[in-house]
Amino acid sequence: MRFEAGDLVAVLTTQPLDRTLDYRAPEGGCVQGDFVEVPLGPRKVIGVVWGPGQGDWDPAKLRRVLRVLDTPPMRDEMRAFLTRAARYTLTPMPAMLRLATRAPGLGDAPSMRKVLVAGEGEPARMTEARMRVMDALAAYGGAPVTQAELVEAAGVSASVIKGLVAAGAIHEQDTPRDLPYPPLDPARPGKPLTPEQEAAAGHLLHGIEAEAYGTTLLKGVTGSGKTEVYLEAVAACLAKGRQALVLLPEIALSAEFLTRVEGRFGARPAEWHSGVTMTERRRCWRMVAEGGARFVVGARSALFLPFQDLGLIVVDEEHDTSYKQEEGVLYNARDMAVLRASLASAQVVLASATPSLESWANAEAGKYLRVDLGARFGAAELPEMAAIDMRAEEVPFGRWLSPSLKRAVTARLEAGEQSLLFLNRRGYAPVTLCRACGHQIGCETCDARMVEHRFQKRLMCHQCGATRAIPEACPSCEAEGKLAAVGPGVERLAEEAAEAFPDARIAVLSSDLFGSARALKAQIVEIAEGAADIIIGTQLVAKGHNFPLLTLVGVIDADLGLQGSDLRAAERTFQLMRQVAGRAGRAEKRGEALLQTYQPDHPVIRAILTGDEEAFWRAEAGERHAAGMPPYGRMAGIILSSPDLQEVFDLGNALARNHAPLSEVGAMVYGPAPAPIARIRGRHRVRLLVTAPKGVALQDALARWVGQVKTGPNLRLAVDIDPQSFF
Ligand code: ADP
Ligand code: ZN
Repeated sequence: MRFEAGDLVAVLTTQPLDRTLDYRAPEGGCVQGDFVEVPLGPRKVIGVVWGPGQGDWDPAKLRRVLRVLDTPPMRDEMRAFLTRAARYTLTPMPAMLRLATRAPGLGDAPSMRKVLVAGEGEPARMTEARMRVMDALAAYGGAPVTQAELVEAAGVSASVIKGLVAAGAIHEQDTPRDLPYPPLDPARPGKPLTPEQEAAAGHLLHGIEAEAYGTTLLKGVTGSGKTEVYLEAVAACLAKGRQALVLLPEIALSAEFLTRVEGRFGARPAEWHSGVTMTERRRCWRMVAEGGARFVVGARSALFLPFQDLGLIVVDEEHDTSYKQEEGVLYNARDMAVLRASLASAQVVLASATPSLESWANAEAGKYLRVDLGARFGAAELPEMAAIDMRAEEVPFGRWLSPSLKRAVTARLEAGEQSLLFLNRRGYAPVTLCRACGHQIGCETCDARMVEHRFQKRLMCHQCGATRAIPEACPSCEAEGKLAAVGPGVERLAEEAAEAFPDARIAVLSSDLFGSARALKAQIVEIAEGAADIIIGTQLVAKGHNFPLLTLVGVIDADLGLQGSDLRAAERTFQLMRQVAGRAGRAEKRGEALLQTYQPDHPVIRAILTGDEEAFWRAEAGERHAAGMPPYGRMAGIILSSPDLQEVFDLGNALARNHAPLSEVGAMVYGPAPAPIARIRGRHRVRLLVTAPKGVALQDALARWVGQVKTGPNLRLAVDIDPQSFF
């Protein structure tokens, strides 16, 4: 849709307004989807031409679009995606647009930078260093290179390059700052696939060929070659000239993946996540829009990049909870990937060893294709799993390693193999208790205990991040020297392990112990290569990294996740335990996984041990079905929060009373009740839960329902569709 200069256009901005604004089209006109800069009050803001103006504005006050930005217009498909996603998550459109415009300097004029290309002939004087530079430059095959890149590639100082420029052997040129990414070559052969992998890849390629929407659940144990198989789909997608996106949950750990892509396609993909620089983000966003980036690896927000022609979205480790954005716009990247793909005629691959119950059920219902990889690649087998019945073990107070587990670790130490002790608790101890008065040190602004972090010599709140020094005296009774650490954390476990295995090299992997993602990555690589005998880790280690020397996994507290009333407690524990166990025995050696538990007969623990996954999913699905719970029913969580406790409860009660919009569609409301964490950062939190049968227009009803009440600057209301956690 084209608008001539002066025509009325509706512009959606990222400002928190509940409507689009009318402007006059600028000199030269504009088209629907154009990114524009418009005046708003005294400011200039970025927006998108959403359609014809609504015409309900005083014509005398209409202002003109200042300019059309130098970036391809937002495509219809993207506008449809944002609109549908907004409706699904009950998010205002400006907030959706913010997700789609998270490119720094989007409004800036395109800027230039200096790049280097080979000049004619050779310099009069040739040194070894100069030679390396010329070779490195030649390796780029005529593509422009920045000085920094060339310094890195040739391993010389900048002065060598400057010398070559002065000698005329290298020319400097000005080019647009954001360069296309190096092309990937989909024709390069991948690893020869096993017959089973081949068959799985065949299913995916079929979908890519069709250039139509479809979702496949690719289920296979860790190490079965899921990555190898979906890279085949990426290759087919690139060969078709379409763009591919791979989402990874823990982007800090993606170095291994990038190297693999480079090995497969001869160049690295574009990256989009919180760890890339502003410059790279801007380049990625722009190149995705212009087609100069064909393959993107990213975190969940990469779903909102302006792809031109998206042909494939892979959601790796699709069950991972980090795909659910828990702040701001509450969306689940897995579900949004399916929505985006359905609008773009693209394929989705959901890869996991332990799929979410949602995806499992969708495959059962025939909505998704399901492709299974049964065996691990090569000789590697799934570890042998067994329980250690803690009721029969003698473990002294304040210790957590059972004699049985210690024996198993000792055997590994003697064999020169690695062991992993898994405990999903950061810090030294979860509770600091005064032995004189029984006081437990809590956070001042949250309803949570302070966790001791002994390495940093601080107490920390895991809700708000507040820290303070470990006091000498009890803050309540002032008794000195009576504070005691209660319960285990990884740091304390490391202490116990050092005592039990004095000669072993012990490494602790916990996200809070590393200053940067880079330091963490480096540490993981060293450990994988054998720099430690015993790894002590939180769930960080469960996520997709290979430790080829690891043959024993000891789970310190397999019961930990089973406590609490979370709908997904069983599913989570099952997934986490299977994932952790999957770390053992990846190479030639079969591994062993030992689960310390006080309830070895618990159905979830038994399902983990027998490995009968289908039976577990069926039982879990049966229970949810009977209870009308997701994925067999709809659910929404409403969290009200305010510094004023009375105010949140009043609002909660008002909502509970005025439930007509919900009951009209057959939805029920429960609550208000204090949220499981009843106070965070000084805000009291109250929760309501809404359930509804599948198939009702829940979002519309919710919108009408919450629309009846007023919130204020202090009183916040957040609607979480399909809540994943219930904090
Ligand atoms: P997953 O994604 O299921 O965990 P990967 O694709 O990472 O599995 O494969 C596990 C390991 O086995 C990787 O090191 C991979 O390179 C290797 N591998 C898998 N399939 C093959 C194959 N067909 N040929 C050679 N190596 C393979
Ligand atoms: Zn706190």
